[in-house]
Amino acid sequence: MGLKEYRKKRDFGKTSEPRGGKKARRKADSEGGAREPGPIFVVQKHDASHLHYDFRLEMGGTLKSWAVPKGPSLDPSQKRLAVRTEDHPLEYADFEGVIPEGEYGGGTVMAWDSGAVRYDEDGAETARCVEERKPFAFELEGQKLRGRWRLVPFRTRDGKDRNWLLIKSKDASADTGGDVLKAHPESAKTGRTLEQIAEAGEVWSDRAVPYGD
Ligand code: MN
Repeated sequence: MGLKEYRKKRDFGKTSEPRGGKKARRKADSEGGAREPGPIFVVQKHDASHLHYDFRLEMGGTLKSWAVPKGPSLDPSQKRLAVRTEDHPLEYADFEGVIPEGEYGGGTVMAWDSGAVRYDEDGAETARCVEERKPFAFELEGQKLRGRWRLVPFRTRDGKDRNWLLIKSKDASADTGGDVLKAHPESAKTGRTLEQIAEAGEVWSDRAVPYGD
């Protein structure tokens, strides 16, 4: 999929979201220790026209992305609709701030959770599953989301092929009692609420990092 669609939707003169670029990735890699070894995941709480959670998994050099309207659930019986969206650059995992009104995705973005992800297959094979719409399993090691999960594609009658289900697998980190979204509503990155991020305006701590094409 690449970043073409991502860039087409955004005016980088107006939004502080990262443009993304291979140079930035190589820079991060060469600095060493700045990133955890292995692929990462991030869940961003996005207060746009409708509040939703953007679920992003690193594979094949980008963040494969799904919008989850109801957010993830630790209850294995709660299958959450996850609508595939455009690939995002890896640097997007650090984004927390405000996208100006009138721009694509205008509203407040919170880095709600992040950490390491492990796939049953390797990253390239898992990226193929995403493009070919085959179910795949993975393990999350975040601050809020942990244990085994799976993403399962399904086709709707209207023939739309962007729909998946995000499902928690039954393991020690499953929880049928509470609601992780309500229990931990704040940013895993800064501890802030959506309101505090919105009040602070445009904030992106890694903005000083230069991004090439
Ligand atoms: Mn979003």
